[in-house]
Amino acid sequence: MSEDAFKKIVSHCKEYGFVFQSSEIYDGLSAVYDYGQMGVELKNNIKKYWWDSMVLLHENVVGIDSAIFMHPAIWKASGHVDAFNDPLIDNKDSKKRYRADVLIEEYLAKIDDKINKEVEKAAKRFGDSFDEAMFHRTNPRILENQAKRDEIHARFAKALNDSNLEELRRIIIDCEIADPISGTRNWTDVRQFNLMFITEMGSTADGAMKVYLRPETAQGIFVNFLNVQKTGRMKIPFGIAQTGKAFRNEIVARQFIFRMREFEQMEMQFFVRPGEELEWFAKWKEIRMKWHKALGYGDNKYRFHDHDKLAHYANAATDIEFEMPFGFKEVEGIHSRTDFDLVSHEKYSGKKLQYFDPELNKSYTPYVIETSIGVDRMFLSIISAAYTEEELDGGETRVVLKLPAALAPIKLAVLPLVKKDGLPEKAREIIDNLKFDLKCQYDEKDSIGKRYRRQDAIGTPYCVTVDHQSTKDNTVTVRYRDTMEQERVAIDKLADIIADKASMKNLLKTI
Ligand code: ATP
Repeated sequence: MSEDAFKKIVSHCKEYGFVFQSSEIYDGLSAVYDYGQMGVELKNNIKKYWWDSMVLLHENVVGIDSAIFMHPAIWKASGHVDAFNDPLIDNKDSKKRYRADVLIEEYLAKIDDKINKEVEKAAKRFGDSFDEAMFHRTNPRILENQAKRDEIHARFAKALNDSNLEELRRIIIDCEIADPISGTRNWTDVRQFNLMFITEMGSTADGAMKVYLRPETAQGIFVNFLNVQKTGRMKIPFGIAQTGKAFRNEIVARQFIFRMREFEQMEMQFFVRPGEELEWFAKWKEIRMKWHKALGYGDNKYRFHDHDKLAHYANAATDIEFEMPFGFKEVEGIHSRTDFDLVSHEKYSGKKLQYFDPELNKSYTPYVIETSIGVDRMFLSIISAAYTEEELDGGETRVVLKLPAALAPIKLAVLPLVKKDGLPEKAREIIDNLKFDLKCQYDEKDSIGKRYRRQDAIGTPYCVTVDHQSTKDNTVTVRYRDTMEQERVAIDKLADIIADKASMKNLLKTI
């Protein structure tokens, strides 16, 4: 998808009440966004899909809701005060700031693209007789690009692991990476930048306490580990899930809601016996990928990306990437965090955070598998995959959001053919019966065709037209969003027809 298509999605989000720039009438606040009347419904549905898949489908996963403010020592213990940094670099001509690691990753992705294009071309040329593995081994252009990629990649991984900022700069210079805006290679040194926001709490005479806005929700789970384990009588293995806001002072925040300074996370920490963590890591990778794929956008839209640089707390880590309009990007991280967090909180708090395992008859500090997904990134992935422009017969086009019905903001639009003869009343009667389970919308303005277009644009899976026949025999016309097919059905069948596709329950049953 082109940049142009991405722009269309962004303006569609605004035009139909999904996402607004924060503080827009004051010219906006960079990388902060508000969700409108449609956006909030879609966002809530995404959160419900995640929450129910965690706490309804897993007997041993429970939820919490911890505060955004936490004791500042927590962020010392977690490593965020010392290590939650990104390497930044400035271009002296454009005065724009970039993440040095991202510049290099994009460069590597370009080489990958070149290799893939070469393979695609050859596959077309040779048809059925094409041997891809052999082509990789023998084609000189591929061999050259692959060798270049491997060399840069190895240097890059080592520089990240050693936190070698000078080497990151050298790679940028050696690869002749230019600023996309100024086109020049006039770079500053690479520096570390801490991403946490600091604010003050209280107003004592000798100064208020400095507190951080949490950069992740996970730590609220770790510090409540024993509270939940004891009061919930939880037995290992078990998980604690939480959704909530997180804040990061991102250096580069230019891709709409992909990278925000205030965003929302859905995280689950799963506590396991030491030594069993890699088995659970594999299980959660599979469970989480299934959750994504159940939305039906096609398996080729997702891939795993294993980390080159493991965070200080992890012994295995992978991302689930989704094909966004601007390429494959991380939507979710799955990390095997070892016992790092609990041990560190024991050290800093002086409190024991161990579990007595009755089966093993001993105490230990559990290991942790984390699944961590951004609501906003999930929102962006869903809306970009759903946005479709279609040519219709007669040269007309329509924009339709092919949202999974269970996530659609409005499930059913009820449209009286005319504003008289008792049709509006009949339409209201239908809504009054269904509104307890389904978000419905009443619309009587403009032609039926125009009303269908408005519902297509917000992704409403079902439109029901009430006409004169409806008042006589209690039937209506249902029109299906994706196929645009229409069908005459009895009003008392509507609830079942819609629930079949639009209920969260049926979506959850597919994972
Ligand atoms: P990135 O490498 O893109 O900065 P990350 O690896 O730092 O992301 P994690 O710390 O693993 O991200 O956070 C877990 C999830 O939270 C991410 O997969 C993403 O969906 C979401 N997330 C992280 N930072 C942001 C942000 N600035 N805006 C929106 N969502 C975010």
